[in-house]
Amino acid sequence: MARCGVCFRHCEIAEGKRGFCGARKCERGAVIPENYGRITALALDPIEKKPLRRFCPGSMILSAGSYGCNLRCPFCQNHGISWSAEAMSWAERAETVTPEELAGLAVRLKNRGNAGLAFTYNEPLIGWEFVRDAARLVREAGLKTVLVTNGTAELDILDELAPYIDAMNIDLKGFTSRYYTQVLSGSLDMVKAFIAQAVRRCHVELTTLIVPGENDSEDEMRALTAWVAGLKNGDGQPAGSEIPLHVSRFFPRFHMTDRPAADVSLVYSLAEVAREKLKYVYTGNC
Ligand code: SF4
Repeated sequence: MARCGVCFRHCEIAEGKRGFCGARKCERGAVIPENYGRITALALDPIEKKPLRRFCPGSMILSAGSYGCNLRCPFCQNHGISWSAEAMSWAERAETVTPEELAGLAVRLKNRGNAGLAFTYNEPLIGWEFVRDAARLVREAGLKTVLVTNGTAELDILDELAPYIDAMNIDLKGFTSRYYTQVLSGSLDMVKAFIAQAVRRCHVELTTLIVPGENDSEDEMRALTAWVAGLKNGDGQPAGSEIPLHVSRFFPRFHMTDRPAADVSLVYSLAEVAREKLKYVYTGNC
């Protein structure tokens, strides 16, 4: 039996079993990242697809994903590798690569416009050891590193990774504890603490998916953007209004098919509200 310290769940894991996220396991009395180097998805994507709009614009980036997730978003677009039964089966069939192999591929793809390596598709923080090891090599090769994350991890995990990460896109999925706790099985407090610290360490952009009936009020967007605008950079100076926010449109998926896609006009109007506080607001999926 061992306790995992990566996220707020602090799973107590029995010998040979996995934690809630399906990616960390107890082996010989210690928690290990079972998904270390296990790749389920690999693509050379435009960096704008991460999404990042104000970091290496126009570049491509090698994007790698593993399996597992520590949230339970019912609308997950990547449920095949995040938290469905299919996702858990990747433990048996995912390819294994070493950090050296993945970093070497990133370098070879420079001739196709590759700027570096992005850890994305599933939640990278639950396998942070592989992120650290591969990101360090990619940085040593003079390329950039990107983390696309739900921001649900303790700050000591962020401290481990920050020296090797150039940019992050972090989900700020809403701004009520009710939504995070009851709908996503997450923790708004943990995500806020992670974002506040990340903006002191690297380039950060945020993403908010607008889900009808859940997080789509102007009041909530005002509260969210007022908090973001108040964030400070590594020098302790106010820098929040410079943080890019991606306001994205919900489509019914996976276990959330009881409501229609968000109206494009709703996404546009909430983006306008966000612009009252933030300089760089982008709409997505519209
Ligand atoms: S990272 Fe996974 S195993 Fe660790 S506490 Fe979170 S859900 Fe549990």
